[in-house]
Amino acid sequence: MLPVACRPLRPPSGRHAAANRLGAGAEGRVGPLKITGLDCHGYELHYAHGEYVMSGGRAAVSQIGTLVRLRTDDGPDGWGEITPLGATYLPAFAEGVRTALRFLAPHVIGLDPTNVSAVGRAMDSALLGHQYAKSAVDIACWDLRGKAAGLPISALLGGVLQDDFPIYEAVPLDSPESMAAFVQRRGAAGIKRFQLKVGNRPLDDAARTRAVVEAATSDTIVIADSNGGWNLLDARIAMNAMSDLPVFVEQPCRTTDDCALAARHSNLPLVLDESIVTLTDVYEAKRAAGAASINIKISRVGGLTAAARMRDVMQELNLMVSIEDTWGGDVITAAVSHLAATTRPECLLMTSFFNDWTDGHIAGYHPRSVNGRGSAPTGPGLGIEVDASALAAPLFSVAA
Ligand SMILES: [Mg+2]
Repeated sequence: MLPVACRPLRPPSGRHAAANRLGAGAEGRVGPLKITGLDCHGYELHYAHGEYVMSGGRAAVSQIGTLVRLRTDDGPDGWGEITPLGATYLPAFAEGVRTALRFLAPHVIGLDPTNVSAVGRAMDSALLGHQYAKSAVDIACWDLRGKAAGLPISALLGGVLQDDFPIYEAVPLDSPESMAAFVQRRGAAGIKRFQLKVGNRPLDDAARTRAVVEAATSDTIVIADSNGGWNLLDARIAMNAMSDLPVFVEQPCRTTDDCALAARHSNLPLVLDESIVTLTDVYEAKRAAGAASINIKISRVGGLTAAARMRDVMQELNLMVSIEDTWGGDVITAAVSHLAATTRPECLLMTSFFNDWTDGHIAGYHPRSVNGRGSAPTGPGLGIEVDASALAAPLFSVAA
């Protein structure tokens, strides 16, 4: 069968538009919201603990972020964010974000942002892939959807299931002594879950992990994250050397298939991250790789819409889930917080509050963690107030 060509999408009209009026009460509007413009802002987010180091020599002291501001016709603005972790962590990079957003903007202008499904279809009809760039638009639409309804995003995702939830911090790859000291320092601040950056020489990585476990309190959860840095042999050596430690191993190799082979003879629980993009990948993670948990990054899967769908499926598949993104500031932390708060407590392994890791405080450092735990804002939409005056002029604006 020949593939069916996608037609350009139009804003819903008729009874669909009438239905959308139900969500416009908070603004006192008559009729659905309409996207009238997209502003693209750039900013730089510095790491709070010096240099962020991962396997394979990947290191940086800051990342380049992009904020999306969706403007509407006499209505509120919606904010979204995507900050890739350099250009070699995932197939995403800052310049690609901006080029894709400039291309996508005309395809979403004129649409009702509260219809996140229609906006997503319009973006997919215009551009294949580039989920990371679409993610910022999707988050901004959820912000607008909440503001139009007068409800926090958490309410629109099904409702809060946990008023506060555990957050974790990553420990940059360094000497065993330095990594242990990091965990002790941040543990004293209330953090009880740590993800160690490993993935270089396997016996050195095992020594790093052992030093951290010995320095941490007994109620601390430790994950050794190779970020796909080991080959099969190194993964087997590292996991054998850590077999007596109470730790998880995350993304030991680049592909799910290699992770499955590496973990086949190990007793250490397997977490997958970079190699899980689609729901098919989730099923493969469970059935073929035997993974116990998956780390969902909002931008890797295309936004809050897709991340919530993946989270829901994972819960039904009896998998643990971690909720976060690649990097970011207050906007991405707020988006993460709503998804985390609506996750079943027994299914949530951990979450990251990136505004604790970075200086991207464009919304007054909100939401803010307290003693190693986070919570979701209760105001409409993302529930934060972005201070646009603190940002440089937009890199570009596209208007109707
Ligand atoms: Mg990871």
